[in-house]
Amino acid sequence: MSRAAELPGRRGGRIIAIDGPAASGKSSTAQAVARALGYAHLDSGALYRGVTLVGVRHGGVTPGAPLDANRLLLEAERRGLALHYDGTGYGVYLAGEPADEAIRTPEVTALVSAVSALPEVRAWVNDRLRALPFAGQSVVVDGRDIGTVVFPEADLKVYLTASPRTRAERRLKQRGSKAVVAADLDRETAALAARDQADSSRAVAPLRMAADAVALDGTDLTFEEQVAEIVRLARGRVGG
Ligand code: C5P
Repeated sequence: MSRAAELPGRRGGRIIAIDGPAASGKSSTAQAVARALGYAHLDSGALYRGVTLVGVRHGGVTPGAPLDANRLLLEAERRGLALHYDGTGYGVYLAGEPADEAIRTPEVTALVSAVSALPEVRAWVNDRLRALPFAGQSVVVDGRDIGTVVFPEADLKVYLTASPRTRAERRLKQRGSKAVVAADLDRETAALAARDQADSSRAVAPLRMAADAVALDGTDLTFEEQVAEIVRLARGRVGG
């Protein structure tokens, strides 16, 4: 039996994995690809951010402090951290309330790489991701280790990159900066580089391209071109 068939609840759904460094546009691209194909979108980084948020609020997560994975996960369970399906994709909820904005603060962003390097946290997140796609549901999942570790049996794996400068520029624009100032760009480029370094050098499930992934460099592509290319690849693999 294939691993896909053994996974609870999978029963035939397709999986498209999109991995890559920070701010390469994975989540917005994954969401648009999911919409085009009629799949659900699952952002794995959101769950790592959710664990980090709970840690900041209730689990003693502060810069430089030692992390206690058991305490973090206990709090995550106690505070009702979960992914729920909203009709198009899975969002992060805390005690039944959507937490999508709270998980994207600079504080959470600065701490999430350290939290996600904890093996116990990765195992907890992976269990939830693998149990999620409902019976027969097809999903586009984005993250850092989706094609390598979480769903190695994915029907299509894409490794999405863009130059550090492009990623920093897009991130700043996303945050509402109208004219991008050089100093801000330098700071954002350095922050992204630090997160990529942490995510690529950790011992468990580091960010890397799966051997059977398609590399896609979006530096010179528009968002629409990037989405269209992945949709084209997906249709080539899974039909539809
Ligand atoms: O994708 P996003 O930037 O929101 O992810 C936040 C962080 O979560 C990443 O910097 C990384 O540390 C962690 N992450 C991970 N594995 C994934 C997805 C995200 O380690 N599959």
